[in-house]
Amino acid sequence: MTQSPAITATQINYYFVCHRELWLFSHQINMEQNSELVELGKLLHETTYTREKKEIQIGPIKIDFIDNKGIIHEIKKTPSVEEAHAWQVKYYIWYLKQLGVENIKGEIDYPKLKKRTEIELTPEDGKEIESILQKINSIITSEEIPGTINKSICKKCSYYELCYV
Ligand code: SF4
Repeated sequence: MTQSPAITATQINYYFVCHRELWLFSHQINMEQNSELVELGKLLHETTYTREKKEIQIGPIKIDFIDNKGIIHEIKKTPSVEEAHAWQVKYYIWYLKQLGVENIKGEIDYPKLKKRTEIELTPEDGKEIESILQKINSIITSEEIPGTINKSICKKCSYYELCYV
């Protein structure tokens, strides 16, 4: 493996959502989370796909479940940051490939919306992930905290008060 194995899929996700969130999370700065959205997320994880094997930890990645066709699944509430979700799953596939597991496919499930998106990793995606990992390392090892992004998504972010209040 050519990159740091310690980067988690959550960090990949935050890289696409907000570099400041990535930096704060990577510095173990955690805010109390008590919103209804967090509760909904927990509920979705606890009550959906109960027959499948859930939450498989492999190194720094945690896969929600693998179905009986070998497809890895990531469960999400809404597609509001769909690009971030897609790269998170591509990272799972890329990481497994580094371990010698080939021909893996992924799927993002939005059970509340009854929507699913299939995800594959192209050779170009693999190169892009290596570049993303380098950029993430550079962001999280910087002493400078990235600025706020002032987007609608900020209102749902656990760091909202830290950033704006
Ligand atoms: S509130 Fe907005 S700027 Fe602050 S960490 Fe969250 S997404 Fe980033």
